[in-house]
Amino acid sequence: MPAPGELVFASPRRGKPPVHLMDLEPAARRDAVVALGLPGFRADQVSRQWLGRLSDDPADWSDVPEGARATIAEALLPNLLTPVRTIDCDGGTTVKTVWRLHDGALVESVLMRYPGRVTMCISSQAGCGMNCPFCATGQAGLTRNLSAGEIVDQAVAAARALARGEVGDGPVRLSNVVFMGMGEPLANYRPVIAALRALTAPAPDGLGLSARGITVSTVGLVPRIRSLADEGLPVTLAVSLHAPDDGLRDTLVPVNTRWKVAEVLDAAWEYARRTGRRVSIEYALIKDINDQAWRADLLGRLLRGKLVHVNLIPLNPTPGSQWTASRPQDEREFVRRLEAHGVAVTVRDTRGREIDGACGQLAASTA
Ligand code: SAH
Repeated sequence: MPAPGELVFASPRRGKPPVHLMDLEPAARRDAVVALGLPGFRADQVSRQWLGRLSDDPADWSDVPEGARATIAEALLPNLLTPVRTIDCDGGTTVKTVWRLHDGALVESVLMRYPGRVTMCISSQAGCGMNCPFCATGQAGLTRNLSAGEIVDQAVAAARALARGEVGDGPVRLSNVVFMGMGEPLANYRPVIAALRALTAPAPDGLGLSARGITVSTVGLVPRIRSLADEGLPVTLAVSLHAPDDGLRDTLVPVNTRWKVAEVLDAAWEYARRTGRRVSIEYALIKDINDQAWRADLLGRLLRGKLVHVNLIPLNPTPGSQWTASRPQDEREFVRRLEAHGVAVTVRDTRGREIDGACGQLAASTA
């Protein structure tokens, strides 16, 4: 996010996305509108149109004078995301989009409509620097951080498509946002926090989503998990553990060489204690790599008695990798052993798999 006084209007410095209303806190939105020679309250009116009514058409903003609509739209609502590829499946209730950013970088999002719940999976970075060997995004490295506006706009685009009845049967509200697209959200900390505030603040300041419906998924950047607990945003924390022992986790999640399993889990329990939120543990089941019964028991011993839920994800094989998902009987045994330790566990459904639904694969094949 640009520092105050460093507002970059529509023509950005190379590599820097143009400033968008959603990059700015409410007071800064008003200042930016005043800087355009308009009364500050116009910022609230336009924010309410953008986030409350989900209207991206200035001609629709009947409470704002015509001249002011164009001035604000041009200066503060630049187009940040251009869809370059959209694929749907599950009868149109799963929609994956590859977006081109202003500088040509590509990111992807996946919208999943279920009965009673709609989840948008968004990206926080173009690419990712965490280098997990089973993840398609990790293979290409980090291109750049997204701005808060680029992050929020993915959710706004989803909310708008849902409100217009474009996804599945009839209009519906967006209920959940998960930071499980491209990127490591806690490695792009300030824009992600700004985005979380814009997603959770009630209109006109934000999209008004419930914090408990938002999940921030991390490889386990311990100091940032602790900072997140200080923000007063009780979002759900998901930790991508993938192995209960440091020997294996050092290879599956390379940042483990810096922060070990025990430190990551300590930070997670502190997060749970301070926010009252149950922590999710993500565990991609990889055949003969991390799916042994003894590892299930070790994981069960680490997690038992904690405010935790385990999300087992059948590995979605990436092109060129010899790794694949666990055998069904090994998956069942893994679940059974975790449950025997009293640990809550679910196996994630594999929606969108036929459209390269997971983890950077669609952007990789588009690029
Ligand atoms: N960087 C963050 C969020 C992005 S990935 C994180 O690592 O948590 C969201 C989840 O998908 C993570 O748990 C990640 O480990 C998992 N994932 C990545 N590639 C996968 C694959 N090929 N199959 C199954 N899960 C995968």
